[in-house]
Amino acid sequence: MKPIDYDRARIWHPYAPLGFNAPRVRMADCAEGLEIILDDGRRLIDAVSSWWCVAHGHRHPAIVEAMRRQAEKLPHVMFGGFTHEPAVELARRLAEIAPPGLDRVFFADSGSISVEVAAKMAVQYQNAMGHPERNRFLALKGGYHGDTSLCMALSDPDGMHVLFKGIMTKHFFAEKPRIPTDGAWDPSDADSLRRVMAEHGNEIAAIICEPIFQAANAMNFYHPEYLREMRRLCDETGALLIFDEIAAGLYRTGPRWAHERSGIASDIMTVGKALTGGHVTLAATLASARVAETISAGHPSAFMHGPTYMANPIACAAACASLDLFASSDYAVNVKRIENAFARRLMPLKALPNVADVRILGAAAVVEVRRMPSQTDISEVIDSHNVWLRPFCNFIYSMPPLVSDERTIDRISFAIMDLASREPGPVKDDGGFHE
Ligand code: PMP
Repeated sequence: MKPIDYDRARIWHPYAPLGFNAPRVRMADCAEGLEIILDDGRRLIDAVSSWWCVAHGHRHPAIVEAMRRQAEKLPHVMFGGFTHEPAVELARRLAEIAPPGLDRVFFADSGSISVEVAAKMAVQYQNAMGHPERNRFLALKGGYHGDTSLCMALSDPDGMHVLFKGIMTKHFFAEKPRIPTDGAWDPSDADSLRRVMAEHGNEIAAIICEPIFQAANAMNFYHPEYLREMRRLCDETGALLIFDEIAAGLYRTGPRWAHERSGIASDIMTVGKALTGGHVTLAATLASARVAETISAGHPSAFMHGPTYMANPIACAAACASLDLFASSDYAVNVKRIENAFARRLMPLKALPNVADVRILGAAAVVEVRRMPSQTDISEVIDSHNVWLRPFCNFIYSMPPLVSDERTIDRISFAIMDLASREPGPVKDDGGFHE
C-alpha cells in the first residue's frame, strides 16, 4: 500500500473521518520559511502558519540548531525531582515578557493541558481560600480552549463539542461579545456577563476567556473594555481571571499580548502555539505570586498536576530560541504591515453577494461567507494558487507567519478572493466544524 493510501485507511486526522470518506490529505515532505514543500516538489504558502504557531517561518535555523544542541545533550529528563537549564532559562524569559506579576510558571505539553492546569489552579486557589464551593467557571459563548474534557466544557456550549455535552460539567456562559462596528464601547455588551456574576458569582472559581480574539469557535474580535469589566467583576466577587493567550498571544493581533490593549492583567495566563515558533509542542501556564503562594499554603500544598513530558528540555530550548527571535526585531511593526496589506486587498470583498463580513486584526484576516464554497472549489483554489488555506464553518481566513512579506500577503489574499467569489457549496449536515 502506498503511504498515502495507508494513511487514509489507518490514521486519524484532526476533525476528520477515517477511511473511505476521509478528506484528501497532502504529503508534506519538508518545509522552509513561509512554505510547506510537498513530496512532488510543489511549494504551498502556509497561510495558516500550521494552526497559528509557525510565527518565524518553518524550520527556522536558529530554533533547529537550539533543538539539535539540546537533543545531543539531554533530550529528556523527568521534571519530578530534576530541573535543567532550558526550563530555568525559559521561565526567566517568560517572566520578563509576561505582564507584570505573572512570574510563576507551569510547563505543559500542549495548549489544552495548559488550560486544564489554569482551571485546576483556580479551583485549588479557591479551595485554599476556604471556598471549595467555588468550583464552576464563567466562560464566553463563541470561545474555544481546547479539546480535552475540561477545555471542551469551557468552550462554546453550542460549538464544535456539542456531541459531548452529556459528559461535560456544566459551567456558566455569557453571551458572545459583539464586534464594535464603529470601535465604540457599548456597555450593554457586558450585560449578560454582569448578570451571571450577580447570580452565581460566589460559585465561580474564575472567569476564562480568549482576550480580544475568539479564534477557533468564532473568529470574532471584541472590545478591550469588556476585559476591564471582567477584571472589575472578579475583584468584586473574589473570582480569578484567566486569559487564554494561546492563539492571540505573541503578537498575533498586534501587541505582544492581545489583552495589553485593556491595560489590565489577569491572575493566570496561558501561552502556547507560537511559543516554540511552531517547531515542537510546548505551552505554559503563568500565575501571579498570590495564586501560587495561596495554593502552596493550602491543603494539599502541592499543585496536583504533572505530565510525563513536563518541561521537555528540547521544547524549552526551542522556546528560548523562539523568544530570542521575538526579541530581535519589532514583530508588532511587521504585524501592522500584514494587517494593512490584508485590509487593502480583502476589505473590498464585503461587496460580494456571498460575503457576510470581513474583519481583520493584526495578522488575522477573516472573510465570513454566507455559505462555504464546495470542498472541490477549496481544493482547486489551494492547488491553483499554491496557497494552503484551511477554511472552516463559514470562515475563510488567514493567520500567516508573522514574518510574512507583502508579496506573500498579496498571494494569500488573491487565493482568498478567488475562493470567496465562488458559488456557495452544499449545505453541510455537520455544521462544517473543523478548525
Ligand atoms: N486555547 C486556544 C485559544 C486555542 O486556540 C487552542 C488551539 N487552537 C487551544 C487552547 C488548545 O491548544 P492545543 O491544540 O495545543 O491543545
